[in-house]
Amino acid sequence: MKFDKKHLEIQLSSLTSFNSPKNYLEQYSTESSVAASLLWDAYLNGNIYEKKVLDAGAGNGVLSYASLYLGCEFLTAVEIDPDQRSVLERNLNQFKNKEILIDDISKIHGKYETVLCNPPFGAVSRDADLPFLESIFRLGKNIYIIHNAVNDQFITDFIKDRGEILKKILINMDLPKMYSHHTRDHKNIRLMAYLVSSY
Ligand code: SAH
Repeated sequence: MKFDKKHLEIQLSSLTSFNSPKNYLEQYSTESSVAASLLWDAYLNGNIYEKKVLDAGAGNGVLSYASLYLGCEFLTAVEIDPDQRSVLERNLNQFKNKEILIDDISKIHGKYETVLCNPPFGAVSRDADLPFLESIFRLGKNIYIIHNAVNDQFITDFIKDRGEILKKILINMDLPKMYSHHTRDHKNIRLMAYLVSSY
């Protein structure tokens, strides 16, 4: 199969969204164009095709879908919110080589070649990102972390003793209004994606 980035983006944009989205879990979907670009980059870096991939905090499965589309060997999607199981099952339905685990990321064991991690940023529930940051380094070798760019110093310091940052990508993303406390229809946020090789 020949992979096509534009086609991937179109597929991602047609996925079903969160079921009863929960603000306290900071449930936001990565924009299709951003997810397609990031996963395409990961694919070109040799971290997706025929690899065992973990999607930590899978949400509606946008990063999981992209990994499966780009030919990962097996995909494990971990999501704490049971309401998202049906959404994940639906969005990933066409792929057989996957499992969906409704669980806390702290409880997950195993070894994955690639870990994708777009956690809550801790803006609503303070430190909600910590269970992710503390788990991913024992779970995988090649780790992609997406975080709010304002926390760059904290994230960079956190990674320092745990892995080598191979790449940082600054991303501008449009966040549509999702929760009642949002006053505008859209908000532009700056994200930072880190590619880390864990020690
Ligand atoms: N990966 C998706 C969703 C990101 S939002 C995307 O990029 O679009 C972060 C997700 O992490 C939410 O769906 C939230 O429910 C989930 N989550 C929050 N705390 C968690 C935990 N401790 N363990 C597993 N998932 C968690």
